[in-house]
Amino acid sequence: LVSRKRHPENTVLTIKEEKIGDGIAHLIAGPCAVESEKQLDDAARAVKAQGLTFMRGGAFKPRTSPYDFQGLGLEGLKLLRQAGETYGLAVISEIVDPRDMEAAEKFLDIIQIGARNMQNFELLKEAGKLSKPVLLKRGLAATIEEFMYSAEYILASGNDQIILCERGIRTYEKATRNTLDITAVPILKQETHLPVFVDVTHSTGRKDLLVPAAKAALAVGADGIMAEVHPHPGQALSDSAQQMNPKEFERFVYDLTASGLFN
Ligand code: PEP
Ligand code: MN
Repeated sequence: LVSRKRHPENTVLTIKEEKIGDGIAHLIAGPCAVESEKQLDDAARAVKAQGLTFMRGGAFKPRTSPYDFQGLGLEGLKLLRQAGETYGLAVISEIVDPRDMEAAEKFLDIIQIGARNMQNFELLKEAGKLSKPVLLKRGLAATIEEFMYSAEYILASGNDQIILCERGIRTYEKATRNTLDITAVPILKQETHLPVFVDVTHSTGRKDLLVPAAKAALAVGADGIMAEVHPHPGQALSDSAQQMNPKEFERFVYDLTASGLFN
């Protein structure tokens, strides 16, 4: 069902009157995690100031260590909805438990399935029953074929509103947090009819590489970019090293726009 052979036209999603997958690139930006009402409000202002429509913010955080900040959970989803309404932003957040899908559908505009859950097939099947778009991230060690099969699970369960998101894979290279598989973008665009995004924050893990990675992604045909922005990255409860502050974010959007690949 994901195959372009069976469905030659691009799948275009309409969210808050914005079209994803029709050739115009979009940016999903926001903090790694929702931390407080104030933090999210400041982040939303930074996102809105750049004229964007989509804000991210993790509420259920899949952390490597059980002792790290795990997110605000349901409360985080509610804060996201509230900020989304205040600023007129569509909101996206990761869901890690099939039992939270109902709440997710109520509070979110896009439901994210994270890299660590790309092959959580029960979660994929639940996401397939939703009437909301799903942004599916590539697993840390997943092949492109496995990634497409995971999207197939969602489609086969009845939901055809899917965004694929390349977020870097595990290799022996240590210069970046993960290795951005840039050719995954044109391959996924050839093989499937689904919109493809690139998460430049989690793939590179380096602020100095966000602009080149985003430019490369757009140049090879990505339908959008995901990047993290936090009002005070130094105080962030997760990913403090690679989140942009509002000023850096402004510069990021400026550089992308100046490249002619965005807006
Ligand atoms: C995220 O986007 O918040 C995240 C945890 O990313 P990933 O699942 O790609 O690691
Ligand atoms: Mn993060």
